[in-house]
Amino acid sequence: MNFDTIAVIDWSGASSPSPAKPSKDAIWIGTARDGTVGASYHRTRHDATEALAALFEAEIAAGRRVLAGFDFPFAYPAGFARAVCGTEDPLALWTAMAARIEDGPDNANNRWQAAAELNGLFPGIGPFWGCPASVDDPRLPAKGTARQGHGQAERRGCEQRLKSTQPCWKLYTTGSVGSQALLGIARLQALRQRFGSDLAVRPFETHDAPVTLVELFPSLIARTVAELAQPGEIKDRAQVRILAGALARLGPGRLDAMSREGDQEEGWILGLGHEAEIGAAARGAFAAPELMPPRLRDDCFAMPQGVAWVPVEEALSRLRAALHPVTGTETLPVAQAAGRVLAEDVAARRSNPPMPNSAVDGYGFAHAATGTGVQRLPLLAGRAAAGQPWPFPVPPGHAIRILTGAILPDGVDTVVLEEDTATDGATVVFDGPAKPFANTRRAGEDVAAGAPALAAGQRLRAPELALAPALGIAELRVRRRLRVGVLSTGDEIVASPADPAEPHQIWDANRPMLLALAAGWHCEPVDLGHVRDDPGRIAARLDEGARAADVILTSGGASAGDEDHVSALLRAKGTLSSWRIALKPGRPLALAMWQGVPVFGLPGNPVAALVCALVFARPALSLMAGAGWCEPQGFMVPAAFSKRKKPGRREYLRARMDSEGRAEVFGSEGSGRISGLSWADGLVELPDGAADVGPGTPVRYIPYASFGLG
Ligand code: AMP
Ligand code: MG
Repeated sequence: MNFDTIAVIDWSGASSPSPAKPSKDAIWIGTARDGTVGASYHRTRHDATEALAALFEAEIAAGRRVLAGFDFPFAYPAGFARAVCGTEDPLALWTAMAARIEDGPDNANNRWQAAAELNGLFPGIGPFWGCPASVDDPRLPAKGTARQGHGQAERRGCEQRLKSTQPCWKLYTTGSVGSQALLGIARLQALRQRFGSDLAVRPFETHDAPVTLVELFPSLIARTVAELAQPGEIKDRAQVRILAGALARLGPGRLDAMSREGDQEEGWILGLGHEAEIGAAARGAFAAPELMPPRLRDDCFAMPQGVAWVPVEEALSRLRAALHPVTGTETLPVAQAAGRVLAEDVAARRSNPPMPNSAVDGYGFAHAATGTGVQRLPLLAGRAAAGQPWPFPVPPGHAIRILTGAILPDGVDTVVLEEDTATDGATVVFDGPAKPFANTRRAGEDVAAGAPALAAGQRLRAPELALAPALGIAELRVRRRLRVGVLSTGDEIVASPADPAEPHQIWDANRPMLLALAAGWHCEPVDLGHVRDDPGRIAARLDEGARAADVILTSGGASAGDEDHVSALLRAKGTLSSWRIALKPGRPLALAMWQGVPVFGLPGNPVAALVCALVFARPALSLMAGAGWCEPQGFMVPAAFSKRKKPGRREYLRARMDSEGRAEVFGSEGSGRISGLSWADGLVELPDGAADVGPGTPVRYIPYASFGLG
């Protein structure tokens, strides 16, 4: 059996109506039907019960099945029912309890008296306990420890498995579910009478009815709720809304099966033991769907006819326009998210700092009670430290020892630095006037709860990994890593120096270099190996690459000559666009789509391959990875060299800073000089126009680090 509509009710044992403004600790009803989830606020049990009855009636009339779950125990530890009504049947207990409870439309009720009377049925004192001092009934002790000899177990079996549940006997103060159960069972018994056989209480009743009531415990998936709640959302509201949505998403028949689990006398908390399944359903219902961007178009690299040489800037802006993010998303714990790109904006879940606190070790006091001249304030015996808040107010005119990071106690708004004081342990003395709020940090002065904290597209570096937990963010939705395939081609290339090379052969230098670049750019390098200049083999390897990677970098064979097999193959497939870029070192950049995956055909020459990778592939991969287009940061520095350059193309020289802060360049511009790449720490960029550089001429130096090469 399946349920069409889910209602999750956060009940309340309040004795007066809850505030008109939706608040916590009141009754909240979350509903889910047909993928639509809502939450409503109710000021009284009467109002909530009427709303539920109306919902049940409407659903029955429409032929739909409802499951309604309540966050209070439906039964008591084994033995209680028999002692109260002579049978183990929990529903007979419901009848007996309902007969004892009066609960008005304004929440006024007789729960203390009813509990005292129930206690009267047991020997000794108890089992119910907890009430305001005004109740003063010897049958109902104010403290749990005052109970004795009542013979009832403290917890049900299911509660023993869930330590965060409260015992059903506790009627008063924080988290006391006992009063909710007394008053709730009475209301549910009334619904049972009203709906007759149209309503079944699980697991006690097994018939399929249009309305099924079950016991729930929203904290079962507390962590997931905390993650999925909207910033600033009232916790009770988030709980009922998210749990309703989650239960509605469970697989066919699962909820029905879960509702039948448990003990016939003690009942059961639905979903106990299935927390992971329900948590996953909650994520399925509320986590943003995985973002799958559209694929790139096959003609995205097309260059208009008749274009001869393209300036670097124009090539870059064409590339930028052609590409978009191609990576999907996943959710990772913050500690595993280093280097990833954030997939969505993130707001602070909590303020940093969460509370006003002291910025120094010193003495805290109320500023208003101090003046100018020497100040002598009596010291309270005690201290406020980080993690050890001082729980009492500090009276005006008094001071308290306070340490860095400690929450300011009530009555303290200003702190004087320890070094600026003298003390004998009973009095602290300092020179006034103190500046109001001196040496304190305001709550939220760094980031306020709900304020934007991190932006989609941002790279998660070490500082972001500090900020996220400070704001209560445990997991981040990030882009999957961009998979970068690297393929070398050429008949003369031997894949690795571990293998012998004939004199006419050279070992593959580009592949390790490009794989390392991809890794340094926080991509996932995919080694596609080396293939000979054979169209069939290159095509087969590109096919493999298109399956294993999001983008492919090839090197070698990318020009237009007889032996340029990569470009010949890509041209034959019809998607090649050979960009003739006015750049030295570098020859045409072959850009193509292969099985929907972009291919960057880099020059074979290692110097040109590196320069083209840094200048073109880096911003392109950054964009595809979701981190946006990026430009390297350069610095104008005096040249330590001389060079006269004709206009018409941009040039990059292997360079590094000398001891006098000038850019020196490698002795040879030969594009086969791989040692020069290693000698250098960066590149000098000479502009597209003419340049006449001499010692001292300002030139643009771009450190390797600015290209993400470290
Ligand atoms: P190509 O672009 O194929 O004409 O190659 C240009 C130059 O780069 C030639 O001298 C090639 O031998 C050399 N080359 C091509 N691929 C590599 C590689 N993977 N490692 C080292 N040198 C290469
Ligand atoms: Mg070649």
